[in-house]
Amino acid sequence: MLIGIDDTDSPQGMCTTYLGAVLVRRLIREYMQVREARLVRLNPNVTFKTRGNAAVMLDVIGDPGTAFRIACDLVEELADQSCENTNPGLVVTEDKPGAAFYQKAVTDFCTLDEAVAVLEKSSARYRGWKNRRGLIGATAAVASELPDRTSEILVYRQEERFGTPRSVDRQSLYKAEAATFPHTWDTVDTENDVVVCVPHTPDPVLFGIRGESAHWVMASRQMIRSEPLALEQIWVTNQGTDAHLLDADIASLREGLSYRVRGTVADCPKTGTGGHVSFTIGDEAHQVRCMAYEPTKNFRQVIRELRPGDTILACGSFKKGSINLEKIHVIALNAITSVRPPLCTACNKRMTSDGRRKGWKCKKCGARADEPELQKIPRTLNTGWYEVPPTARRHLARPLCRGTPFG
Ligand code: ATP
Repeated sequence: MLIGIDDTDSPQGMCTTYLGAVLVRRLIREYMQVREARLVRLNPNVTFKTRGNAAVMLDVIGDPGTAFRIACDLVEELADQSCENTNPGLVVTEDKPGAAFYQKAVTDFCTLDEAVAVLEKSSARYRGWKNRRGLIGATAAVASELPDRTSEILVYRQEERFGTPRSVDRQSLYKAEAATFPHTWDTVDTENDVVVCVPHTPDPVLFGIRGESAHWVMASRQMIRSEPLALEQIWVTNQGTDAHLLDADIASLREGLSYRVRGTVADCPKTGTGGHVSFTIGDEAHQVRCMAYEPTKNFRQVIRELRPGDTILACGSFKKGSINLEKIHVIALNAITSVRPPLCTACNKRMTSDGRRKGWKCKKCGARADEPELQKIPRTLNTGWYEVPPTARRHLARPLCRGTPFG
């Protein structure tokens, strides 16, 4: 059977993955076999998400009725239902729904009615609490198929420590990153000297290590020293896979969806208030603004080097009329030239303009020239892929250390 759960947490605490990890242990205690624990991230632009729009799925061998009862009890016990925005959903099904619902939930917006229709078709056991919105994520989780998958080990705190400052040895995190990168990523951001894998929210997660496989995240995790922990769980995930990105042209962009869009840079990037950098790309008929926000730090330096005529592939979410950049592929650089008055070949002096469209004239010897001197300006930017730093990376964004998507 597949068990899906979502929307059990609130900004004040709890985390659906923690509930999932506790459920794994309760099911095992009832002699069930948990074959896979999966953490799926869904459309990062849904407004009612608490943090990272995560839902969980467990692939379990055992009695579905018993599993449903145990899971219902656990949601009642742990979900933070005091929060208006916490609307848990639980699904237990022996008949996996098609992946189309997951595809829509990770790239687009779904309704509760759509989720319920999918569940009815699969004859699933399901329960939603309060406005039942969590059924959307829970249904997407059991419907998920992950052609590309990564791992994350999440280490959870002891209950009495929830809400208190976390104690994780900083040096051990840097050592773990150095020893296992690029097979693990986003443990620390070395360039900006920031620890990325330890959250600051009051939820039960102590830290999480992301990587290519269970083997690599474990290798890294074993190097990390920290406060005593309660439990740890290795999740199979769609994180770091770009599962949210759709290929599209500028005319078809829709609010709240995430894209790969090809276009030609139309203007020089400008730095606005707050350090946000913006520029426009266009195709034959349409234009769209691209944004590199201040938290993307040095990535903005790359963006500032773009010039009109450069061809890029912009990746990111389309929100309020802009693509919020997660990474770009600089496909081709425009040759940029500067125009100078020509040199007089006799006097070796710069000529002066003789008026608009009248050419140039040497003040000394009176020689004339019709063409200016064109100088190719060397570009500091190279073609290739560029991404935001780990501190600014979204859960679903595929890091370039996993290999560039188009060579
Ligand atoms: P956590 O990371 O701790 O699980 P969260 O950030 O995942 O928290 P939730 O509390 O789960 O946030 O809230 C997200 C809500 O949005 C859930 O009710 C989920 O069912 C719903 N949801 C997820 N994806 C979509 C989607 N594509 N369309 C509509 N609703 C969605």
